[in-house]
Amino acid sequence: MTAPVMLDEDGKIVYDEYGDPVACLDGHGNGEGCSGPVEWWMTPSTWKSWPRCTKHGERRMEQDEQTRQRYPTMEPSDFDPSYAGERWNDDDV
Ligand SMILES: [Zn+2]
Repeated sequence: MTAPVMLDEDGKIVYDEYGDPVACLDGHGNGEGCSGPVEWWMTPSTWKSWPRCTKHGERRMEQDEQTRQRYPTMEPSDFDPSYAGERWNDDDV
């Protein structure tokens, strides 16, 4: 099976800096398990774009969503600094 490769707006194959056609990152070089056209997918947690087919791109976005829910980088809106444990001796005053 030939790897699905990325095409630009004119339908031409997009090549990387090594002259290889840009193909799905998760296609194992031969389009294994791939489905749909290859596009750039921006991962919100890393702000990096990687070429992936529709199927692998959507799967990666789901994984990224789960990662962000598990390790939030923003503090929750109900976060209270006084719960951080840094003033636990106040009762002794
Ligand atoms: Zn793929």
